[in-house]
Amino acid sequence: MVRRDDGLVRLGPTTGWVDEPIGAALGAELGIDVPVTVGNVADVAAFAEHARGTAAGCDNVIYLYGDVGVGAGIIAGGRRLTGHGGYSGEVGHMVVVRDGARCECGSRGCWETQIGEHGLLRAAGRSDARGRDALLALFDAADRGDARAQTAVRQAGDWLGFGVANLVNIFSPEMVLFGGTMRDLYLASAAQVRSRLNSMALSACLEHVRLRTPKLGEDAPLIGAAELAFERLLADPLDAG
Ligand SMILES: [Zn+2]
Repeated sequence: MVRRDDGLVRLGPTTGWVDEPIGAALGAELGIDVPVTVGNVADVAAFAEHARGTAAGCDNVIYLYGDVGVGAGIIAGGRRLTGHGGYSGEVGHMVVVRDGARCECGSRGCWETQIGEHGLLRAAGRSDARGRDALLALFDAADRGDARAQTAVRQAGDWLGFGVANLVNIFSPEMVLFGGTMRDLYLASAAQVRSRLNSMALSACLEHVRLRTPKLGEDAPLIGAAELAFERLLADPLDAG
C-alpha cells in the first residue's frame, strides 16, 4: 500500500515493510534532484494496460494482479481509482471466509489466502515450495494429469471467479484483466471462473464484461511506472518542476 503523495510504503505484507520511505530513499540513492514517484504494482500495471495495452479505449477496467499477494488496479469512468491516500484496490484482502486461514496482513480468510501463491501451493500439498516457478510447476502438474494439483487449481479457479463476480457486481467493468500469477491461474481454470461469474454476477453487470490477459505482459508494471513518472509533465509541461 503506497501513499500517493510521497511514495511512503504504508504496508508491504509480503516484504514486511511498514511505513518505509521508499520514494525518499530512492531519491537519495539516485543522487538526482528530481521527484521520485512510487506506485503499487497492480496500479501501475493497470495504468499501462489502460494507456497502451489490452484495455486501451476501455473506461472501466479491473486489472487483477497476482504475485505472492493479490491486488487490483481499478479504472472507473476513465480515471484511476485511488481512494483516499491512494490505498484502494486491495481486493486480495476482501474477506471471503469467516475466520479462515491467516493472511499476511494479519486478518483471516482474505481472498488471497485462496488464490494467492501460498494458498494454492498449500492446497496442492506443496507448502514448502515458494515462488513463481513453484506455481508454474503446479500448473504444469495439473496439466499433465496430477489429480491433487488439478483439484487445487480447480478450487482456486472457483475462488477466483467468486471474487471476480463480486468485483463485477460492484464496479461493472467492461474488462477484467488477469496479470502476474492471476494470468496463469485464469488460463488454467477459465471454466471455473466463467461458471462462477455466470452463477453469481448480475446479468446487467456481466453482459458487457470481457475477460482478458494483459498485452504488455511482464513489462506492464515498468511501463506503467514510466507513465506515472511522466504524468505530471504531460499534464502540465510548464509547471512540472
Ligand atoms: Zn489479508
